[in-house]
Amino acid sequence: MKFDVAIVGSGLAGLSVALHLANTRKVAIISKRKLKDGASSWAQGGIAAVLDSGDSHEQHIADTLVAGAGLCDEPATRFIIEQGRSAIDWLIEQGVPFTPDATAELGFHLTREGGHSQRRIIHAADATGAAVQATLEQLVRKHPNISLFENHCAIDLIMSDRLGEKGKNTTSQPQCYGLYVQDERTGKVHTFAAEQTILATGGAGKVYLYTTNPDTATGDVIAMAWRATARSGSRCGRAFHVEI
Ligand SMILES: Cc1cc2nc3c(=O)[nH]c(=O)nc-3n(C[C@H](O)[C@H](O)[C@H](O)COP(=O)(O)OP(=O)(O)OC[C@H]3O[C@@H](n4cnc5c(N)ncnc54)[C@H](O)[C@@H]3O)c2cc1C
Repeated sequence: MKFDVAIVGSGLAGLSVALHLANTRKVAIISKRKLKDGASSWAQGGIAAVLDSGDSHEQHIADTLVAGAGLCDEPATRFIIEQGRSAIDWLIEQGVPFTPDATAELGFHLTREGGHSQRRIIHAADATGAAVQATLEQLVRKHPNISLFENHCAIDLIMSDRLGEKGKNTTSQPQCYGLYVQDERTGKVHTFAAEQTILATGGAGKVYLYTTNPDTATGDVIAMAWRATARSGSRCGRAFHVEI
């Protein structure tokens, strides 16, 4: 099978990037269970962003760095927080039914959660992730340029250096040509050729015995990226790892 872009993962990250690319690219979404079976559907509280003039990026960044207790990458934290408003505007445009509040500046109710010095959590009642997932799923299911492969498990990236080739790019970094994917129902392994491969497979909470994470959060694709020498958030050849 051949696509312009192969996206592994169908949570909020995978579905968002698919909808952003699909108007100009032929996109495959590969997901090891049903589309909704990631952490995104389980998120309840809401999404933090600076959505009121009484709040600021600097306050949100400061709160995040304190709560992160030294684990946050500051440039990444700043970048994500500065994009928060436009990401929320995009979700609203897609039709996510956030809880309204006629008295709020943006017209949506904001809660205040632990670690936040301001009210900045936009939410859809107490099932925000399920509302976002359902809205985006509906859009990808009817998009003519998006092919869906549910119950398909990504196994390994196809890298130029493993094929004994140098990448076609000028940096001489290994290049990613796509990936091998197992159909969970038949056991057959299929080759997905793609100009770009995007890994949006969430976390690895299931490495612990007790976790609120779903069964899909096994981290196998993070290991796959490491085998191909990719690093979270960085570019290696043409494979990217994105996580929210
Ligand atoms: C109980 C709970 C409550 C939460 N509450 C909040 C909250 O209130 N606010 C908030 O901001 N965040 C919350 N979070 C965190 C938030 O849900 C995650 O950060 C976010 O959903 C991650 O989105 P994602 O698209 O990166 O990953 P996910 O939604 O986990 O999607 C990963 C996808 O990758 C697929 N996948 C994994 N491995 C493979 C493979 N080998 N082959 C094919 N597909 C694969 C999975 O099936 C899934 O479709 C919560 C998380 C949990 C578990």
